[in-house]
Amino acid sequence: MDDGERPEPTSALTETTTTDLCVIGAGFTGLWTALLAKESDPGLDVILLEASETGNGASGRNGGFVDHCLTHTFENGLERWPAELSKLVKLGYENLAGIEATVKRYRIGCDFQRTGEMVMATEPYQVEDLRNSPAEAEPYGLKLEWFDQEQARAIVNSPIYLGGLYDPEIVMVNPARLAWGLRRACLENGIRLFERTQATGLGEEAGWIVVRTQYGQVRTRKVALGTNAFPPLVKRLNHYIVPVYDYALMSEPLTRDQRAAIGWEKRMGIGDAGNQFHYYRTSADGASCGAATTRCITGTTASGRNWKPIMNLMGGWQTTSSRPFHSWKDTVYTCLGRRNRYLFAL
Ligand SMILES: Cc1cc2nc3c(=O)[nH]c(=O)nc-3n(C[C@H](O)[C@H](O)[C@H](O)COP(=O)(O)OP(=O)(O)OC[C@H]3O[C@@H](n4cnc5c(N)ncnc54)[C@H](O)[C@@H]3O)c2cc1C
Repeated sequence: MDDGERPEPTSALTETTTTDLCVIGAGFTGLWTALLAKESDPGLDVILLEASETGNGASGRNGGFVDHCLTHTFENGLERWPAELSKLVKLGYENLAGIEATVKRYRIGCDFQRTGEMVMATEPYQVEDLRNSPAEAEPYGLKLEWFDQEQARAIVNSPIYLGGLYDPEIVMVNPARLAWGLRRACLENGIRLFERTQATGLGEEAGWIVVRTQYGQVRTRKVALGTNAFPPLVKRLNHYIVPVYDYALMSEPLTRDQRAAIGWEKRMGIGDAGNQFHYYRTSADGASCGAATTRCITGTTASGRNWKPIMNLMGGWQTTSSRPFHSWKDTVYTCLGRRNRYLFAL
């Protein structure tokens, strides 16, 4: 978000207005909802309300991995929806192709690149699991490739890698620029965007849904909520939301020698096969910075204080600086599924 491309926020809503569709929250969910609605019916009047600025939630601050997988790993999909997995894989590829088509159509400069991702095994038992994945996934239409230790370390030279599972279709992106590009596309399509406008309540009046804001209100036929794990406007949703935090850490710019030592020449994203969701990528500017992310249930402290252990755990690399260059955190929307048996982190 600390970027010269960051747009000036629009003015807030200060009047009563009417519309066909009011979308609340200008992260990826809200931006894409508003844009798809307008594209499918250009005559529709669409208003997008955002409490702060576009992309200021998780969307503009995320790790930048754009995955085709709709089930948050193939193994998870296989365990929960084996009968529908082929269809889910196909829909996932189509979804990613749709994202790419939108980026191209609106010429969104967001470093969108199909670099692929390697999930690295760092423990012997993970080697056994991952090595079999390509054969398991193939009947479901998923293309994966196993890299042995030597091949994996030729991609990124970390002493803790024992092998890696390569998915060639995964994309790396600058998430803030993607959000701002979608914002521009919304404005070009005539969507009325009001930033610095928090929706404070929903009501009904003479056949209209009324969205109340601090200084104005929207009378609308339909509402779409894209408010992630923020306090929900429909109170009963509270029971389904468990905020889970992602923490992101970014290294200082690497010197040429440091870069050569780890051999991370391509922009390929890396994850590890442990259960802590460690994933990291380089920045697009000649890959001069390393970015690292970990996911923790609320309360754990993957902050600047334990930066060194995290870097060492993720790639087995030693960092000399005592602090990350940048660090931040945000919530990911997580809800409890039917009978509270599983969690979704979307
Ligand atoms: C550090 C981190 C790393 C991540 N890495 C990845 C990754 O690499 N790949 C990936 O696919 N996902 C990743 N995620 C998850 C992904 O970023 C989120 O799932 C996604 O951005 C959610 O988008 P959203 O639009 O639903 O929510 P948000 O981006 O949070 O947007 C919600 C918006 O609603 C606004 N809002 C809330 N309440 C109101 C209100 N009452 N009135 C008006 N506006 C309101 C907020 O201000 C906010 O802008 C990561 C998340 C984090 C935090």
